[in-house]
Amino acid sequence: MKMLINGSLLDKEDKLDVRNPYDNSIIDAVPRGNIQDVKYAILSAYHTKKIMASLSSRKISQLLYEIHRELTGKLDEFAKLMTQETGKPIKDSRLEMERSADTLLLSAEESKRIYGETVPLDAGLAGENTIGFTLRVPVGVVSAITPFNYPVNSALHKIAPAIAAKNTVVIKPSSKAPLSSLKLAELMDSHLPDGAVNCLTGRGDVVGDEMVKNNLVDKVSFTGSVAAGLSISKKASMKNLTLELGGNDPLIVLEDADIDDAVNAAIKGSYSVAGQVCIAVKRIILDNSVADDFIEKLVKSTSKLRMGNPLDDKTDIGPLIDANAALNVEKLVNDALKNGAELLFGGKRDGAFYTPTVIDQVNPKMQVVKDETFGPVAPLIRVDGIDEALNMANNTQYGLQAGVFTRSIKNAKKAIETIQAGTVLINKSTFRTDNMPFGGFKMSGIGKEGVKYAVENMTRVKLVIL
Ligand code: NAP
Repeated sequence: MKMLINGSLLDKEDKLDVRNPYDNSIIDAVPRGNIQDVKYAILSAYHTKKIMASLSSRKISQLLYEIHRELTGKLDEFAKLMTQETGKPIKDSRLEMERSADTLLLSAEESKRIYGETVPLDAGLAGENTIGFTLRVPVGVVSAITPFNYPVNSALHKIAPAIAAKNTVVIKPSSKAPLSSLKLAELMDSHLPDGAVNCLTGRGDVVGDEMVKNNLVDKVSFTGSVAAGLSISKKASMKNLTLELGGNDPLIVLEDADIDDAVNAAIKGSYSVAGQVCIAVKRIILDNSVADDFIEKLVKSTSKLRMGNPLDDKTDIGPLIDANAALNVEKLVNDALKNGAELLFGGKRDGAFYTPTVIDQVNPKMQVVKDETFGPVAPLIRVDGIDEALNMANNTQYGLQAGVFTRSIKNAKKAIETIQAGTVLINKSTFRTDNMPFGGFKMSGIGKEGVKYAVENMTRVKLVIL
């Protein structure tokens, strides 16, 4: 596929191969963009921002509804391409595409709800005989950089609210899975003014770097790892910045939990998309009084999962994004086992595949739970009582989501008050709707996405005084 700049497709001799993680075959190649390409795309977006700002909110909303209609007719086509480039099981790709359509619908609706407010200036000193009100105006040019694991919906969480707020966008998807994002950008471009949505391909440290530093860019919206997020935050200067970064989410099972519910949540949370989800369950914190019961059921349910060809409807777990990612998970699990953890299930790698794995007797010093492990691993940490459980949950540099299983309102209240995370879930985990405020505390990021909240961050407040 080709890059999209100013409404035209652009190819280059120099290319990056895109591989199918299932069999490592090359499925396509994309241009390796350079700094000149980035400057051209940003200039196009810069020139188009006046056109976008001149469109009525009604028109913008109609355009987003049109895009939603076209995408809705192509969900399967997109899902198949996404599975080929990411290795994500087809049922999960279909789910992502349904959510992507919803993100567009929510954005079409939100574009008609961008309100300012009146300001009672005469309540302040010297404010007599004035009328004040605020307008929410577009930020301008948005640089959007996205990861491999949700290539369409994470792109839409940036592009659709940006367009809803009358901005223009330059997006760079992950080099590992750029195809479905390119296809999305082409689809959106066919409904919008040239230059409103541009899509670049190429390396993060070249193309992404210039997208962050360029002075014509007004906002940087990044989703990806903490390492890249930190580097971006240093280079973004005074630009408006949203960072959606990694997580190390705990699932806490207290003595009064419904164990079956907690096990189901752990299965979904630890193994969906082979554990490559920012809000995956990455630490299971178990009260000793229920640990054995939970573990027996968890191992039994884990053993029933089907690993295989991600295009097969029955597959629960596909490959990781590449063999290096699987090697890294293998290394972290083996390191934990060397340091006293106990393997209860799995622990095997074959190329980019890593079996769903349960390890017991994990302690917080082990690397497998110290940092984000992006793979299908359920590390079990045993504790005594709610206080130790909550301390353990907070013992991380991350703070994206946390799930707590308890039947007691008192325990739930204590968890809600104590846990340092952007979302606390009671009797649920790994949960997102596309309209909720989504984003973490601590090293998990800055700002919120979720259509209404992204629109807020993609506008700025202008005060008018009469
Ligand atoms: P990544 O390696 O950080 O890459 C993400 C994107 O950033 C890619 O497009 C990458 O380009 C680009 N990039 C890399 N270095 C850059 C730099 N120095 N400057 C500008 N751009 C740069 O992350 P990933 O492995 O694709 O995705 C997994 C991570 O994303 C996990 O940590 C996961 O938790 C996080 N994530 C967070 C959320 C959330 O909403 N909080 C959602 C999904 C994923 P190249 O591919 O060309 O290197």
